[in-house]
Amino acid sequence: MRLAVLGAAVYRYIRTALARHTTHTGSMNSRHSFYLLIFIIIGVIAGLIVGWYWGAAATGVAWLGKLFLNTLSMLVIPLLVSAVITGVTSLGDVRQLGRLSGITISYYLITVAIAVLIGLIMVNIIQPGVGVSTVGLAQPDELLIAAQEKGIGDILLSMVAPNLIAAAAETNLLPLILWSVAFGIALASIGDKGKPAARFFESLNEGMMLLVSWVMYFAPIGVFGLIAGMFGAAGSAQAFMEKIAAVGLHVVTVLSGLTIHFIILILIMLFVARQPISYFVGMLRAIVTAFATASSTATLPITIQCAKESNIDERARRFVLPLGSTVNMDGTALYEAAAAMFIAQAYNLQLDLGQQAIIFISATLAAIGAAGIPQAGLVTMIIVLQVVGLPVEGIGLLLAVDWFLDRFRTATNVWGDAVGAAVVHRYLQKHID
Ligand code: ASP
Repeated sequence: MRLAVLGAAVYRYIRTALARHTTHTGSMNSRHSFYLLIFIIIGVIAGLIVGWYWGAAATGVAWLGKLFLNTLSMLVIPLLVSAVITGVTSLGDVRQLGRLSGITISYYLITVAIAVLIGLIMVNIIQPGVGVSTVGLAQPDELLIAAQEKGIGDILLSMVAPNLIAAAAETNLLPLILWSVAFGIALASIGDKGKPAARFFESLNEGMMLLVSWVMYFAPIGVFGLIAGMFGAAGSAQAFMEKIAAVGLHVVTVLSGLTIHFIILILIMLFVARQPISYFVGMLRAIVTAFATASSTATLPITIQCAKESNIDERARRFVLPLGSTVNMDGTALYEAAAAMFIAQAYNLQLDLGQQAIIFISATLAAIGAAGIPQAGLVTMIIVLQVVGLPVEGIGLLLAVDWFLDRFRTATNVWGDAVGAAVVHRYLQKHID
């Protein structure tokens, strides 16, 4: 009975929260947003149930998830390019860009530092690696090859692509973002001559946003397919639980660290960005999609759409969210630091404060370098291990559960981007307008 009363109260709260925080212009109205969120949550629960009971047979519905993922991914490049260009041209005065980038990058760096610190503190308290057997672990050859292409120095190099079309084809976002910023500045600098092109990208962006809101209606089924398929591929949730049990404390460490960071982000939203809790409710569709797709990049269209419905300033959402989806990865950074320490503990290697400081820096850089795609963090993890001189075979301990933890860290990454957009929104309101 009490549960029903509580359920009804939560229902009413979410409904009014979304109603208060959504606009009706060019996107979904609040009623639709509300029902969509409910259906997405039902999709998650149904996916879990089907994955749990059907086991491998659940992979039969995975194509629904793949279809959703592909549809979202298809929108990313035109949306991102048009959003960033119009984000820059709509600043009015290009000199504001310097301040906007300054506040955005400071936010990224501060929150990622908090995340890594939480990861290190949790792993030192829980000590999840102590007593874990490392017998029979093999070199992760595939990951080593992938990591070779991604040294820390290469992160800078990867910011400029020799071929923009190839970068787009490979969803290599950073060079595309930098190009779009530069092009936006150029358009804004040539006065009237730049206006037709700016208007073209503005209308491209509006059209893309409408497409996103259409695709969002497909999210409940897509999320269902993705989640059922993921447990199906793991050979049922029961089989998966056994794998979790083998490195149970590592899972507990990462999940509790991510939860603490998630809450800190909520506090930043409340006290720095001064958004009400309904902002979080409005972003839930993006957060759940991030969990289901394990990709910040594929989630980007939905993140932008939710921010738009929450009335986040267009300059903030068009600039901060695309950049954040590839650079700002708090969850990944926390995970990399915690996982490196876990491996050190499993191999009985004591890391002093100096070495932990190196983990701190390399985990931050590795998270910045990780792409917003599933399990990208595992590849950049190799860099962290190599920098500190930890055995890379240790990664074998993490493989079985990585795809699962990936979902939680991706959800945290996307939530971090959303809070960043709110912080910059607040800054723009206070200092630029
Ligand atoms: N899957 C994560 C993301 O897209 C990256 C990672 O940690 O592997 O944000």
